[in-house]
Amino acid sequence: MKNNSFLFSAKGICTAAFLSLNTIVYAQKTADISTISEKTLNTILEKNRAYYTQGKVADYIPELGKMDAKAIAFSVVDKNGKIFNTGDVSKKFTMQSISKIISLMVAVNEKGEAHIFDKMGYFGSDKPFNHFSNLETTGKPLNPMMNAGAILTTSLISGDGEKPFLKILDMVRYITKNQTIEYNKSVYESEKATGHRNRGMFYIMKNSGLISGNEDQLDNYFKQCSIELTAEDLAKIGYFFANQCVRFDGDAAYKNTDMAKLVESQMLTAGMYEFSGEYSRTVGLPSKSGVGGGITVSVPGKIGIGVFSPSLDQHGNSLAGYHMILDLAKQYGLSIF
Ligand code: GLN
Repeated sequence: MKNNSFLFSAKGICTAAFLSLNTIVYAQKTADISTISEKTLNTILEKNRAYYTQGKVADYIPELGKMDAKAIAFSVVDKNGKIFNTGDVSKKFTMQSISKIISLMVAVNEKGEAHIFDKMGYFGSDKPFNHFSNLETTGKPLNPMMNAGAILTTSLISGDGEKPFLKILDMVRYITKNQTIEYNKSVYESEKATGHRNRGMFYIMKNSGLISGNEDQLDNYFKQCSIELTAEDLAKIGYFFANQCVRFDGDAAYKNTDMAKLVESQMLTAGMYEFSGEYSRTVGLPSKSGVGGGITVSVPGKIGIGVFSPSLDQHGNSLAGYHMILDLAKQYGLSIF
């Protein structure tokens, strides 16, 4: 701590805390959210660009390892649906685990929350995303944000073969109003060929009767993870869940306050895996990361944020992405707490 004035607010209340990432949280005067501009985003991006050198691009799915570690993008959709982009705005990447919030929405829309959560928990995450966790003990996944719960969620969407995946893809296209979105076949093939842990979870859940179908269902999970989009698309997804499932252009075809609350609560408690607790302390916003380097953030009732930088921390969260979100949240006082 170099500057003791950070330790106390004017009221003399201690507002500082040292967290494991050496992040210092302190009260400060915040800017009005309506003043967010491309310039503010760009200043934050440039400040955090170098973080990619401290992380590592995921290569456990070999095709992901080909991503350019230096690529970086930062997007916001403001309250009125206006889009602000900076950095490598047209750079596409795979959404990976961010797809889990979309499959959760599709499954709950179709089967109801009780049916889905009878088979898995609402627990927060204190384990890595690919941990078997309590599959061997209680038999049920901890939550739909870890791989086991997400694989199960997708298997509960009705339809043969590729149909459940196509429903997820259609929902991503609807929310982003971007019909050009596709999945990356090389990333899909790469994960299918190497996803042995995910296959293991699939068969444990099949053994316990939670999953009843064949490996097409696991392929649907691999395909949803391989959906390719941009940081702007992620900001639109963040906006959608922040605003009661109303699209950035005002289309309210899926308006559902309760669905937004369910998805945002999962993002907050488990969206950043075992980092979720600390993240809710430092950033304080429902967020979902993916090992492709993206993070989508919902500022409830307000804006959506999308970041991309493929170099990850030890939890599998984008390092520069995290720092860009943290800076924006501090500057504009965005924490929900
Ligand atoms: N497709 C990845 C996997 O199942 C998703 C994980 C992630 O993004 N954290 O391993």
